[in-house]
Amino acid sequence: MDELTRTPVVPLEAGAGPDNPPCPVCGEPLFGWLAEQERLGAPVRRCESCGLGVVGGSAGAAEVRTALERLGDQDRARIVNRASFSCSLGGAGWAGLEPGVHYLFTVEAVRRLVADRDQVVRRRRWVAGASFKLTWQTLLNSVTFGHNVALAALGSGQAAPAEERWQRRIDGLASIVLAIPAAIVAAGIELAGALFRRGTVVDLRFELL
Ligand SMILES: [Zn+2]
Repeated sequence: MDELTRTPVVPLEAGAGPDNPPCPVCGEPLFGWLAEQERLGAPVRRCESCGLGVVGGSAGAAEVRTALERLGDQDRARIVNRASFSCSLGGAGWAGLEPGVHYLFTVEAVRRLVADRDQVVRRRRWVAGASFKLTWQTLLNSVTFGHNVALAALGSGQAAPAEERWQRRIDGLASIVLAIPAAIVAAGIELAGALFRRGTVVDLRFELL
């Protein structure tokens, strides 16, 4: 009977519990997003309110503020947007999930963080080249055993190569054969992302209120 009488829409707070720790930005419960990925060493949770992604646990608001400051300074930050089209499409294969990453920001999460220090996001700018590269790599990740191997081979970012030699050889070949088709699709995804403010890499400028 309980199942039948339960209200279908519940406030997000009702989901709080040991498996759903509070979001270090907005306090709403974090929900499971991705199972543990070997290269990340932990499962990934996401906040359905501000969109923040958290790999593993969070030590709280001070830690996430420090992580944001590392992406720029007091007046700016360049984020890899967890609310981007490429992230929605890529899931666990999203190129923004590099080894070592802890927090995955969205513009909304940053807006709330800087509001705590009396700042507003005055400008957001889609960074075309960097966005395109990550979306291109996200598409290639969907067919390779390893993760982010093409960009790393081009000297950008950090890869998690496949374990077996034969897998790495296939990855190399697939990246070459599919480089151009993936580039064409990636350009379309990013142009749409720019249009709908869901681009992958975004520069943000902050100003005092
Ligand atoms: Zn949140």
